[in-house]
Parts: sequence; C-alpha cells; structure tokens
Amino acid sequence: MKHALSLRWRMMLLFCFTVGILLLGSYAAFYFAARSVVRTQLDHRMSEAAGLLAADLSSDPDDADILVMDIPDEYFETVGASGNVVALSKNLHGHAIPWTQSSPDPVTVRDAPLGALRVHSAPVHHGARQETLLLAMPTRETDQTLAGLRDLLFVLFPCSLLIVGAVAAWYVGRSLHPVSELTRQTSQMADRVKVAGPGAIAPRAPRDTLPLPVTNRDDELGRLADAFNKLFVCMEGAVGQLRQFVSDASHELRTPLSVLQGETELLLKEPRPPAEYRKALEVIDGELKKLSRIVEGLFTLAIADAGQLRLAREPLYLNETLEEACALVTPRARSKGITIDRRLSEEIPYVGDEAFLRQLFLIFLDNSLKYSADASPIRVGMALANGNIHVKFEDSGTGIPAEHLPHIFERFYRVPQMDSTEAQSGGLGLAIAQAIVRAQGGSIECASQPGSGSTFTISLPRSANPSAAQS
Ligand code: ADP
Repeated sequence: MKHALSLRWRMMLLFCFTVGILLLGSYAAFYFAARSVVRTQLDHRMSEAAGLLAADLSSDPDDADILVMDIPDEYFETVGASGNVVALSKNLHGHAIPWTQSSPDPVTVRDAPLGALRVHSAPVHHGARQETLLLAMPTRETDQTLAGLRDLLFVLFPCSLLIVGAVAAWYVGRSLHPVSELTRQTSQMADRVKVAGPGAIAPRAPRDTLPLPVTNRDDELGRLADAFNKLFVCMEGAVGQLRQFVSDASHELRTPLSVLQGETELLLKEPRPPAEYRKALEVIDGELKKLSRIVEGLFTLAIADAGQLRLAREPLYLNETLEEACALVTPRARSKGITIDRRLSEEIPYVGDEAFLRQLFLIFLDNSLKYSADASPIRVGMALANGNIHVKFEDSGTGIPAEHLPHIFERFYRVPQMDSTEAQSGGLGLAIAQAIVRAQGGSIECASQPGSGSTFTISLPRSANPSAAQS
C-alpha cells in the first residue's frame, strides 16, 4: 500500500535536506580553512626559527651549540651530506629524528617515542662542508585544537539541523494553515449542501463572517483564500436566488392550478345549466392561458440563462416591428380609452429576430396599458443616437416608487399595487425583456415617478449589425 507523505512533511523534509547539505558544506569548508591556517602558522614559526639557527650555525661552526639545546617540544639535529647524524639536541636523548627526505619542504613524520612531528630543514654551510639542520616540533597541540574544532562542529551540525527543522515546521505549518482551513471550510460547505439537499445551502454558522480567514491579501495563499471567499459568496447568492426562484415559480403555478381544480370540482359535483358550464369554461380557459404564459416565460428565461437564446438575424425595419406591436394592443388600448401616440416616422433598418423584438415591444406596451388609468396617453418613440437605437415607452400611469426600481427586472417581482392590476400580472415580463435585450447586446433603463408615470428606454447597438446600417 502506498503511504504518501503530506505536503507539510514533504516541504519540511525538502527544506531540512537542502539546509543540511548547505550546512555540511559550510562546516567542512570552515574546518579545512581553520586547519590550513593553524598548520601554516606552525610552519611559519618553525621555518623562521630553523632559518635563524642555520644562519647562526653557519657563522659559528661549533656544533656543540646543538648538543646543549633542551627546549621543551623543540628538537634539533644536524645531518651530514651523506645522511649521517652529526649532532642531536639534548632532549632527543640520542634518538635521531626519522627524516629521510632530500628536498627542503617541511614534512610530518611519525616517531614511536615522540609521536607525530613536523620537521623543517635548513642548509648549514661550514666552508666547503655542507650540513642540514633539522628542526622538529610535535603536532600534538595543533592536532588537539583541530580535534576540538571537529568535535564542536559535530555537535553544532545536528543542533543546527534541529533548529532548522523546528523553524521549518513552524513556518511551513503557518504558511499552510490557510490551505488546511480552506480544506476544512470546503468540506463543511459540502456537508451543508449534503444536509440541506441539492439546490439549497444550509446557512453558515454565525461565528464565521467570511468562509475563510484572509491573513495576508498580498501573498499567494491570501489571494487564493480571497478567491475562494468570493466563490463561496457567489455560490451562496446563486443558490439562494435559485431557491427563491423555485419557490416563487411554484407559488405562481399553484394559484392558477388551484383555481382550475376548484372550478372542475364544482362542475363535476352536480349537473349545471349550459350557461354556467360556459362561464366555468371561460374561467378555466383564462387560467390555462395564464399557466401557459408562465411556463413559456420560464422556458425562455431558462434558455437565456443557459446562453442558448438563439436569435435569428433577419433584416427588418425596427419602426415597422414596433408599429405592428402597437397595432396588436390597439383594441385593448381603445377599450380603456387610451391613445398610443407613435413617433415612428424615421425608417430604422436593423438585423434581428422579429418575433422576439415584437414580444419585447409588447411587454412594454402591455405594462403601459396595465398600469395606466383609463384615457391617459401613452407615447412611443424611436430614435438614433451615438450609434445606438433608442426605443422609448412613456406612460402617465401609476409609476414605480424609487425603492422598487432596482428590483423590477427580477423574476416574479411585483410592486404592490393599490388596484386589481396585480391579479393580472405575471411578474416575468421585464425579466424576459431584459434577457432579450441583453442577447441583442443592449440595455434597458427606467425612470419613474409614483403617480406621474414611467419611461422605459431600450438601447440597442446598431454597430453590432453592420449589414443593417447599409441595408
Ligand atoms: P408584471 O407581469 O407584473 O407586469 P413585469 O416583470 O412586466 O411583470 O413588471 C414587474 C413589475 O414592475 C410590475 O409588477 C409592476 O409593478 C412594475 N411595472 C412594470 N412596468 C410598469 C409601468 N409601465 N408602470 C408602473 N409599474 C410598472
């Protein structure tokens, strides 16, 4: 079975391994540099002393000087040209220095009674006679110093590694804390979704203000936590909206369905005169139309949400499409004594989906009629400005209070009305209008004064349809 090390351990091991190698290299370099300095100093001291004594012996050819020398840890010997021992210092007690080399370079030799010796040689001239002066000093002291340094480094190395390991564990743990927190929060979020069921997210525990703590917004982990927080908030918002939408939609569908159910139950209870059947069927017909309007509207919005609202690109004159929509609502306008003042003399070529555009205009005309008192005028206009086509619907109806304006394009949102218009409204018109306009790359604005009326302005980009501009 494969046991994978956690990211934390892998990072720590890598860190310790790298620092360990660097430490080992540095300590080794330091040790060899110290050894070289200590040995050079000893050689320097010895070669100076050997040189001075050789010069002294050359000027005074009395080898008896050597014989009486008894300096602790300094041994002297003179050797003849054939390698024969000429004189030995007193502290050598007749034991010759084991030196066989012919070159003048200093050497280290091992001697049974004296231990490791560093030997320097210097030429001594007695007229034609040539001798070599040997100066030997034990390396014991320098070896001990170096051994002490070695021991210190051997203790220092594991201690440094331990400290590095502790610092690495602390730092890696601290750096990865947001990642662990991210994991914890993500699994909590998954649990909440599981508990609440698909399509709903159970509310966040009140102690959490934001899902993930952001310690430093400028580092990578801070930015990651920040991005996750945004994602969580968006997800919660989207799921909340979805839940609201499902609840609103079921509410909207329930009302006509219960009317249908009530009417049919009443009809089936006992035989009725034909006039009553007819009346009930008219009610049923009205409710069925309402139902199919809602279902069609929801279908259009679902397609638009999925980015699948396929709009045909057919050349047309937008003023003519608006004229046709006005003609369709004229009978209803007449029944309320309302006149539709059209300012559509300018021909405005456009490339778009005629059926959707007609549906769009009908939504605004329908609303203007619905929310206007009898005999109040409605004005409809179309103009070109800054490469955009502006279509304006102006009425003198109930108007919309400012606090409701930001919400009127939401699905099933209705401004509470004083009169019975609420009963006839479906609450999807403006949401569908916005989906159609957005699919054409345009926008809608609304200005309204309660009691004075509303003006809706649709802006459609003309440049998005270059062929329309030429046709
Ligand atoms: P509805 O079917 O309820 O009209 P809409 O989405 O078309 O649904 O409109 C949303 C709400 O905006 C309406 O319920 C109404 O309160 C308000 N509204 C829309 N158009 C007008 C208007 N011309 N005058 C007054 N209020 C309006």
